[in-house]
Amino acid sequence: MTAYDVAIIGAGPYGLSAARHLRTMKGLDVRVFGKPMSFWDENMPAGMFLRSNWTATQIADPACELTLEAFQASTGRRFHLPVPISDFVEYGLWYQRQAVPDVDPRKVVRVESDASGFRLHLVDGEALTSRRLIIAAGICSFARRPPEFDHLPAELASHTSVHRDFRTFAGKHVLVVGGGQSALESGALLHEAGAKVEVVSRAARIHWLQGVLSKTLHHRLGKVTRNLLYAPTDVGPAVISQLLARPDLVRRLPRAVQDKLRRRATRPAGARWLVDRLKNVNIRLNSTVASASASGDHVEVRLNDGTLLKLDHVFLGTGYKIDVAKYEFLAPELIQSIRRSNGFPVLKEGLESSVSGLHILGAPAIWSFGPLMQFVSGSRYASRAVFRSITGKESQPA
Ligand SMILES: Cc1cc2nc3c(=O)[nH]c(=O)nc-3n(C[C@H](O)[C@H](O)[C@H](O)COP(=O)(O)OP(=O)(O)OC[C@H]3O[C@@H](n4cnc5c(N)ncnc54)[C@H](O)[C@@H]3O)c2cc1C
Repeated sequence: MTAYDVAIIGAGPYGLSAARHLRTMKGLDVRVFGKPMSFWDENMPAGMFLRSNWTATQIADPACELTLEAFQASTGRRFHLPVPISDFVEYGLWYQRQAVPDVDPRKVVRVESDASGFRLHLVDGEALTSRRLIIAAGICSFARRPPEFDHLPAELASHTSVHRDFRTFAGKHVLVVGGGQSALESGALLHEAGAKVEVVSRAARIHWLQGVLSKTLHHRLGKVTRNLLYAPTDVGPAVISQLLARPDLVRRLPRAVQDKLRRRATRPAGARWLVDRLKNVNIRLNSTVASASASGDHVEVRLNDGTLLKLDHVFLGTGYKIDVAKYEFLAPELIQSIRRSNGFPVLKEGLESSVSGLHILGAPAIWSFGPLMQFVSGSRYASRAVFRSITGKESQPA
């Protein structure tokens, strides 16, 4: 059976970046599994723009060679802010070809503890072992479906993450539930695809990332002040952004403060590019779904104010609730051994879990290292920390 030093599950920004860093270490046999950039390519809407700024959209590599600028120079592709998702996917695939050309796209269906570390089973039945395991499998397994919609079939109510092309909803009456980025961008893109769309949000107002007023202020601040207030990682409001860019500091704060920072930095909010594009979409605020039921090929939704809506489909822009036990590939015994708090793994330095040699990167790490871990810009910290933990050295440029 093939034995590796490090197996990485996931070929998104975190898995690719970790592999690029670890492969600078001679003699370390690192293998990456998963379809590169598949979450971005298959589970986010075509036509979307990234909400993160330019510096925060770079997938980290030790020598800072695989940048958006280098991608543009080598491919001739031109794009600006906000970055279109199609360009980001192409950038990620280009990064993968340079950094990890031998990614194994097969799905890992089972992982269990083994005398040598971990045993992985692939979708076609092949098995292998690895001394260390890095899980960088993203958030797709954590899509949140509120219980009011549990009994409805997927043809009538579905999570935003299962949609990519909205043209099939032209002429349909669609309700989008939620007030965050996924819900708002689905509302805008459905409207532009010709659907009759409404959005319901329980919030009293929509939070816009860098609202119109703050954008003006932002420009007036000048580069030096702006750089003092906001870290290039682009997570969180002024000043707090600088703190969140330092996960080692964040994890030393009292738990209540960490939780407050996390809630503030990840509260539902929409990117600025959506403001104009939602002008003609009805957004009902302070509104919740009281009940939903199927009626033939329609769905009837009763709102908390008594309004009854007869719809063709409900889009659940209801976000993701992290619970590592929902990673179906993890054997139950392994899940039991991972110390968790409310579904999040409790991680120590090097993003290592309570199971020795098992590291967990990306959004599940936010409980231990703060909200930076939920965004592409967290890949620099995570990759360096994992490198240090596994090799005992600081990562050096390739
Ligand atoms: C609508 C939306 C918009 C967003 N916009 C931004 C943004 O503008 N900027 C930003 O920084 N972040 C954004 N995010 C957050 C974004 O999801 C994360 O930043 C990013 O995807 C984290 O990368 P990752 O490598 O952890 O996960 P992913 O990109 O999800 O990669 C995980 C990979 O693991 C693979 N995988 C999973 N299970 C298995 C398995 N069993 N076997 C093999 N492979 C497996 C998947 O195929 C996938 O390729 C957005 C999220 C959403 C939902």
